[in-house]
Amino acid sequence: MRAGNLSQRGGKMIVSHVFSGNSLLFTLSSEPEDKSHYPGFGGSRRFKYRYSDDSPFPHVHPDRLALVALMNSIPFVGTRLQIDWPVSERFLTASNELISRIKITSVAANQPHIERPISGRFALSFSGGADSVAALAVMPHSTEPVFMLREKKQWHRSLYDSEAAEESCRMLRKLGFKVHIIESDFEYLRDPVGFPTDLAVATSAILIAESRNFESIAFGTILESAFGTSGESYREYNQSSHFRLWSPLFDAVGLGYSLPVAGVSEVGTAIICNTNPLGETHQSCIRGKWEAPCNRCWKCFRKNTLMAALEGRELPENSEIMIDKSKEVRKKLLEDKPIRHEGVLTYALQRSFGGGPVIDSLRNLVRAGNLRTDWMNHWYPGSSDLIDPSYREFTIEKLLNSLGEMSAEQINDLQNWENYHDNFREERLSTLEGLLNVPK
Ligand SMILES: [Zn+2]
Repeated sequence: MRAGNLSQRGGKMIVSHVFSGNSLLFTLSSEPEDKSHYPGFGGSRRFKYRYSDDSPFPHVHPDRLALVALMNSIPFVGTRLQIDWPVSERFLTASNELISRIKITSVAANQPHIERPISGRFALSFSGGADSVAALAVMPHSTEPVFMLREKKQWHRSLYDSEAAEESCRMLRKLGFKVHIIESDFEYLRDPVGFPTDLAVATSAILIAESRNFESIAFGTILESAFGTSGESYREYNQSSHFRLWSPLFDAVGLGYSLPVAGVSEVGTAIICNTNPLGETHQSCIRGKWEAPCNRCWKCFRKNTLMAALEGRELPENSEIMIDKSKEVRKKLLEDKPIRHEGVLTYALQRSFGGGPVIDSLRNLVRAGNLRTDWMNHWYPGSSDLIDPSYREFTIEKLLNSLGEMSAEQINDLQNWENYHDNFREERLSTLEGLLNVPK
């Protein structure tokens, strides 16, 4: 049966949960039909959450438990998800209005819903990378970073190494931040292994939000991701299906959805990390050890190139070596059409010098000669409504102090961003392929 038809089948999935000491365990059971809906997803799957320091798992409002269940199960559900505990009428109505592909039901809808508190306490879904450290740097000092530690399984080989991120957490604790590390194995629900939905990383923060009295959860989502400029064209994020799903769903469980650096490009988050003392606590590479990035991955390639630009120096020799030797970097440069976050490479290659003929050809591919990218240095005011109103003014002032605001001309350049893989780009790509001896 073709994938397109599978969601038409009558598959029902049931989700249940149990608190067990310091852990919270969810079980997804599906009826036989659902197995074929998602290849690799079996008849029963479990996933759990655990405080890494083994403190007892706190009480969680039933609607928030249900949201966490949804965020981890949506891709696997055929037509119906049955929540095996009572939730509120408001949550059930909102989730069914927002997620039309499946029917969400519950054993009862008789629980009181949960309102957003007024507490002055905010969470940040934290990764240890430049974007989340930049977000933390412009959020109120009371912000509590929540790091989702990916549980290792012996049977699964992964290049991911959490050491650097855990070191970031330790450093932030020393600086006085209340940092939460919660371990989970939800990425193993999927085959191949991966997050079920992109915001599933925030489920740890949602689960402790009630005990910590958080008003909202923030993400280190940057301008390129929110406003589409990592891809083919600019979009208004608050009109996108992503925003129109998640913001009201968070709201339905009494939580704000906040994107403090949605008006800041990857260039801007790097500038904030270079100039703010908190910047010391970040590391982009998630494969190397602390202060010993792998220098082979795509993140390292972008970071090295961008740093050369920001420091106005020659490109490091290993940028060229990585193009030659790293399969991952080559694949991104040659097979992504266009390259994701290509604009950041344009910025970086315009402002760094040297590198030889391969780098020059890459400069040509990413239009380093004729694109204006200085908007990436500054904050985009069109993102202000994506920042939690409780700290919006505070954050905007911080952003203006560190980056300044885009001019009208720069906003125009941003909003007219386009990067399609047309015939011209194909020609430029062939030149690069020729230099790298890519077989035709
Ligand atoms: Zn790396």
